[in-house]
Amino acid sequence: MPHDLPKAYDPTAIEDHWAAYWVREKLFAQPTPGTPATPVQDQSPDGQSPGAQPAFVVLLPPPNVTGRLHMGHMLNQTEMDILTRWRRMSGRLALWVPGTDHAGIATQMMVERQLVSEGTSRQKLGREAFIERVWQWKQHYGGAILEQMKRLGVSVDWSREYFTMDEPRSLAVREAFVRLYHQGLIYRGAYIVNWCPGCQTAVSDLEVIHSEHKGHLWEIKYPILGADGKDSGEFLTVATTRPETMLGDTAVAIHPEDERYLHLHGKKLRLPLINREIPIVLDEWVSREFGTGAVKVTPAHDPNDFALAERHQLPAINVMDDRAHINSEGGPYAGVDRYVARKHIVHDLEAQGLVAAVKDYTNNVGHCDRCKTVIEPRLSTQWFIAVNKQPNAGGASMAELAIAAVKSGSGGPKAIRFTPENYEKIYLEWMTNIHDWCISRQLWWGHRIPAWHCAVCHKITVPLPNTKEDPAACAHCGSDKLTQETDVLDTWFSSGLLPVSVFGWPNVTPQTRADFDAFYPTSLLVTGFDILFFWVARMIMFGCWFSRDIPMRDGSPRPFAESVPYREVYIHALVRDANREKMSKTKGNVVDPIEIVKAYGTDAVRFTLASMASPGTDIAFNVARTEGYRAFANKIWNAARFIFMNVDKAAEFGIKNPFDVLGQHRDRGEIKYEGLFSLPIIGGNLPLEDRWILALLYKTAGEVNDALENYRFDEAANAIYQFFWGSFCDWYLEIVKLRLNFSPAPSREELSQRHPTVEEEKAFELNAVGSGALYTLLFVFESSLRLLSPFMPFLTEELWHAVYDGEPPAKSIALAIFPKPRATWDSPVLVIEEMALLQDLITGIRWLRKEQSVEEKTLTPIIISALGGFKPVIDENRAIIERLARVSDIRHVLRVPNDLLQYRNPSFEVAILYERTIDAPAERERLTKDIARYEKGLAAAERQLGNQAFLAKAPPHVVEGLKKQEAETRLLLEKALAALAALPES
Ligand SMILES: [Zn+2]
Ligand SMILES: [Zn+2]
Repeated sequence: MPHDLPKAYDPTAIEDHWAAYWVREKLFAQPTPGTPATPVQDQSPDGQSPGAQPAFVVLLPPPNVTGRLHMGHMLNQTEMDILTRWRRMSGRLALWVPGTDHAGIATQMMVERQLVSEGTSRQKLGREAFIERVWQWKQHYGGAILEQMKRLGVSVDWSREYFTMDEPRSLAVREAFVRLYHQGLIYRGAYIVNWCPGCQTAVSDLEVIHSEHKGHLWEIKYPILGADGKDSGEFLTVATTRPETMLGDTAVAIHPEDERYLHLHGKKLRLPLINREIPIVLDEWVSREFGTGAVKVTPAHDPNDFALAERHQLPAINVMDDRAHINSEGGPYAGVDRYVARKHIVHDLEAQGLVAAVKDYTNNVGHCDRCKTVIEPRLSTQWFIAVNKQPNAGGASMAELAIAAVKSGSGGPKAIRFTPENYEKIYLEWMTNIHDWCISRQLWWGHRIPAWHCAVCHKITVPLPNTKEDPAACAHCGSDKLTQETDVLDTWFSSGLLPVSVFGWPNVTPQTRADFDAFYPTSLLVTGFDILFFWVARMIMFGCWFSRDIPMRDGSPRPFAESVPYREVYIHALVRDANREKMSKTKGNVVDPIEIVKAYGTDAVRFTLASMASPGTDIAFNVARTEGYRAFANKIWNAARFIFMNVDKAAEFGIKNPFDVLGQHRDRGEIKYEGLFSLPIIGGNLPLEDRWILALLYKTAGEVNDALENYRFDEAANAIYQFFWGSFCDWYLEIVKLRLNFSPAPSREELSQRHPTVEEEKAFELNAVGSGALYTLLFVFESSLRLLSPFMPFLTEELWHAVYDGEPPAKSIALAIFPKPRATWDSPVLVIEEMALLQDLITGIRWLRKEQSVEEKTLTPIIISALGGFKPVIDENRAIIERLARVSDIRHVLRVPNDLLQYRNPSFEVAILYERTIDAPAERERLTKDIARYEKGLAAAERQLGNQAFLAKAPPHVVEGLKKQEAETRLLLEKALAALAALPES
C-alpha cells in the first residue's frame, strides 16, 4: 500500500489543489436545514446529532468590492476560519457567510478616475450610464478579494455569497427605509454636515480624521452702528481661523454678563466687505476667555453657530458650493476657491484697516478619511434616522434597544458579550451619546433613497411597507409629477442590515423562514475596532429593530435576547510590523500577505498569526517566525514520510496495518468520522511511551479546546506546536523507532501448524511488536492532524488523505471530529511525570557525554542512584535509555561516588563510567555556581512562602507547587554541597 508523498514539502502545489477542491466540492456549504441537501456530518462521537447543538454562524465583515487583501483581513479571516473549522469539527452545524460591500465612495471614485483617464467624466456620462459603467467595472474587477480568499482556503459557504447591492439586499434596504419612515423615525432636514469638497458628499463624523494644524487667528474689527444706522466709529473685534466664512455671518454673539460689552446690548454691526447689517446677540454659550469674547456667528458653516442661530432665530446663509467655492452669496468673491477667497478677504480687510491682529494659532482640522481634503462644515439638506426618538406607535428608541442588548438586564446574562470586555464600555458610552444618524450621501453609486418629491405640492411620498411598486402619484395631492430623490443611502445602512438580510429578510418564503430559524441570531462577529461604531453598532440597532417582529420557530413572540444580530463580538487586534510600528504606505512597511503566502505557504502564515493572537494584544508580524512555522510544517511532512515508509514496509511482510482494518469497518458502515481510532482497541499494558503520548494528546486536546473557547489563539497554537514537534516528533518518533523492526516471518496460521525455528519465532514476535507500535503511532499522528487542521488546513488535508491512502472516511479532514480531552486507562499525570523523568535522564546522560567529550560512536555504562518509584521505570525502559543516550549498561547503585561528574535531579543522580580524570578546579567552579543558584532559588521560595499576603491570595495548587519546588531545590543543594566537600583538595 503506497502512500505517495513527494520528498519535499511544497506548500504551493498542495494549497492550490485543496483550495480548488474545497470550493468545487462545496464542502462548506450549509444548506437550509430541513432541505434534502442538508446532511454533511455524521453523528458526533457522543452520539448526538449535530442539530442538537445550536448552529455556529458567522458573517464575514464584507470587504469593499474594490478591496485587496491586507494583513488585517488575513488576521481576521484566519481567526474566523480557525473558529469555524473548530466548531464544525466539534459537531456544530457551521455556517460562515461571505460577501462584498458596494462601498459607495470608494467605488465611485475608482470608476471616476478611470473616466478621467479616458477624457470623459461622470457628469458627461449622466447618472444612468455612469451606474451602468460601475456595474461593468464590478463585473470585471470587483470581488478580486474573494478570489484571494478562496486561495486562502477560508471555509465559507460560497453558495450564500451576497453583494450589498444585489436584489435581495436592495429589497431589504428599501423595506427598512420605508418602515422607519412610516414609523416616524426618518426625516429630512437642514443640518450642518461634514462636507467633503473632494468627494462632494456629506461624510459621517466617523469618516472625519482630526489633526493639529498650524494656522492663524485673525482678529477683525466689525464697525458698530449708531442710532442713525451709520458707522459710529467704534468697533467690535471678533476672532476667527476661517475669515472667508464671514461672508455668511448673520450675527455676532457676546456673553450677556461680559462687562466689557454691556454697553453694546441691543446694538447692530456692519458686516465689512458685504455691508450687511447684523445684530449683536447675547448668549451664555460664548466663552469670555476665548479670543476677544465676541464670536462671529456663521450658522451655515459651523455646528455651534447653527445651534446658536436656532436659539436666536437667525438666518443661515450658505456661502459655498459643493466644491467649496464661494457662491453668489459671497458678493465680489463669488466663484473662487475658499482658500483663494481667504487671501483676498484678508487683503481687502487690511486695506480698510479692519484687521486688528494676526496671531499664530494651532487648531484641530478635520480631513476626509478617504480623500484627505479639509472638511467644510456646511449647511445642507440631508436624510436622518432619529435614533433617540420613540416610533409613532410608542416604545423604545433604536438607541435604547441597542443599549439594552449589551447591558445585562437585571443581573441576567448579557444578550451580546464583547471580548475584550473593555469594548463594551466604549460601545455603551458612544451609544448613550449618539446623535441622529445622517444616512444620505450625494453620490450616484449606491441605494437610491426610495422617496419621491412632488413638483406641485413639494411634499414627499414614500411607498408603504411591504409594497414593491414605486409610487405613481403624490400621496398628498395626487399629482403624477414625481421625481425620485437623487441622494443615495450611506453604505453602512445596507451593511447594517446584513444579519437579517443575508437570511432573506424581509422576503418570507419557507426557505428564508427556515434559514432565519436556524441561523439567527448569528453566533459571533469577529471584526476590527475601527468599525465598532460604523458597523457593529449599526447592526445591533437594525438587528434588534427589524427582527423583533419575526416570531420564533414555534410561533411564540421573539424574546429580546433572540433579536440581537449576534451573541458575541470579538474585536481583533492590529497587525504591526516586526518593530511594532503601525503598517502604513507612507512608511513603506506594509507587509503584503499574498507575498508572504507565496514565499512560505498559507499554513505557515496562518500559524504565525494564530500563534500571536490573543484578546487585546497587537501582533508584531515577523517573517522569521513564519520561516519557523514553515519548518514546523516540514517537520510534520517528514514525520509522515517516515511513518508511511514503515507502514509500507510492514505491509510487505504481510502485516495487516490499521488501514486494512479500517477498510473492513467502513464496509460494514460502522465508521464514524473519528475513524477507526474511536474503537476502544488501545489499552492494557502499552509501553510507557505509548501511554505517555496518548495522555499528552488528550491533555493537549483539552488545552486547545479551552484556549479556543476563550479566543486564546496563541495558547492553542503553541500547545499544538509543543505537542506535535516537541513531544511527538522529537521524542515519541525516536523512541517508537526501536519497536519498528519488520522482517519476513511465518504467519500465525503457519506457526500453529508446524514447529518454528528460533529465528522464525523471533521474527514473528518482532513483527507483532512492530504492528502494535504502528497502531499507536498512526492513531496519534492522525489525531494530531485533526488537532492541527483548523490552523494548517492544507498540510493536514494532504497528509490526512495520505494516511487513509486516498480513501478517507470523509471528504475532508475538516468534516472529521476534533479531538477532545478523554480519560485514559491510567493516571495521565503520573505517566507524564514518569516520562518527564526518563527524558531528563536521557538529556542528562547526553550532557555528561558532551561534558566529558565522549565520542559519538562510543557507548558508555552508566551508574544511577534513583528513588524507589523511578527505579522500575528505568528498568522497563532500559532499551530506550540505551539507544537514545548511547548507553551500554545500566547499573543501579545506592550512591554515585562524588568523584564522578554527575547529573542530578531530585529523583536521581547519574554518572557515566568513562575513563577521564575529573578536572577538580573546573568541577569546583561549576558546583559553586550551582550552589549559588540553588541558594538564591531557595531564598526566593522561602520569602514567598513566608509572605502571609501572598499565601492568603494564591490558589492552593500554586502554594503546593512552590512547596514542592522548595523541597526539591533543598535536596539539590544538599547533593551539590556533598559533592563539593568530596572533591580532592587542589
Ligand atoms: Zn473626500
Ligand atoms: Zn403633491
